[in-house]
Amino acid sequence: MRRIYLDHNATTPVHPEALKAMLPFLEGSFGNPSSIHFYGREARAALDDARERFAKLLGAKAGEIVFTGSGTEADNHAVIGAARAFRDKGRHLVVSPIEHHAVLHSAEYLQKRDGFEVMVLPVGRDGIVSPDDVRRAIRPDTTLVSVMWANNETGTLQPVREIGAICRERGVLFHTDAVQAFGKVPVSVKDAPVDLLSVSAHKIYGPKGTGALWVRPRLKIDSLVHGGSHENERRAGTENAAGIMGFVRAAEIALPRVAAEDARLRALTERLWQGLRDRIEDIERNGHATQRVANTLSVSFRGCTSDTLLMSLDLDGLAVSSGSACAVGSLKPSPVLLAMGLGSELANAAVRFSLGLSTTEEDVDTVLEVMPPIINRLRSFQGAGQFVRQ
Ligand code: PLP
Repeated sequence: MRRIYLDHNATTPVHPEALKAMLPFLEGSFGNPSSIHFYGREARAALDDARERFAKLLGAKAGEIVFTGSGTEADNHAVIGAARAFRDKGRHLVVSPIEHHAVLHSAEYLQKRDGFEVMVLPVGRDGIVSPDDVRRAIRPDTTLVSVMWANNETGTLQPVREIGAICRERGVLFHTDAVQAFGKVPVSVKDAPVDLLSVSAHKIYGPKGTGALWVRPRLKIDSLVHGGSHENERRAGTENAAGIMGFVRAAEIALPRVAAEDARLRALTERLWQGLRDRIEDIERNGHATQRVANTLSVSFRGCTSDTLLMSLDLDGLAVSSGSACAVGSLKPSPVLLAMGLGSELANAAVRFSLGLSTTEEDVDTVLEVMPPIINRLRSFQGAGQFVRQ
């Protein structure tokens, strides 16, 4: 049966080169990097080298990288760790409403447990957070602003450089969740005024269960995981050497190809959008049309619901998503799309296509062939009439 994977923002397959880089650390080079014998020293040397290479890719220094167990952990560490470390300055946090749950739930946790006040910024219909709103939201007791680099549901890129500059000017820490941007657009801490930046391996053809947090030099934030002195005393626990090796190799493969993949995927997502628009009436594109990572296209199909659409597409061999994978199973409309001002009908009718390395023009054309009759059928079931051009 045909299987087309268009859910690369949820996760990606491990790149064969990344897998090759991992295998020795699951086999012969299994030593604990903290051990002083040969096995340990071998793992330590490889880890040090990988950290150095990874830091360089981010425009950073090795000592500024904290490898974590996921992008989620990196976000938690940034938000909770920074808020707690600077709580004497104040307990006011600013986040955007389109953040991943890893950030939003961390902020909510601080609100419930530590008495922080969390200000949630507005967002425009195009899915973009306004730097002026950030400026207005900052108060003398604000310690941290967290706004993502690219949104996982719409792909919309945020003005992180402008927001970071405002935070710097006002003496407020700025964290950006770059999980969906890293490997898709140039991401460097050298040319962006950020203090904390999160990334994740499995979105860029690395393994699941490995992430990283970049921490600005000399910035001290609280740790979440306590124990040994791993990761410069920032995150205890024996390092996941294989995961880290896979992550670093995947990043080394993805980053030099960012511009070429951007051009290729932008052409494919445009072909998909134009093709859908030509064939199906009453659809809306969600998020900014151009200010977005190239691989992501979110479309609402009026008169359908995402979950039935997803199931029908699945039966036809097409794997897509309604938005954040973490929200699957809940019938609630996407909070990201609601925050952008979509009504619940359109927010509940969204499909996210996220293309990747393996996606071809033929895949896109298959979607264009498969979708119209499905939409037509679902709309007629739901009594919404015939919207599809025959
Ligand atoms: N942040 C964003 C924007 C994401 O899209 C995701 C994953 O969906 C995460 C954080 C969490 O990363 P991980 O799956 O590595 O925990």
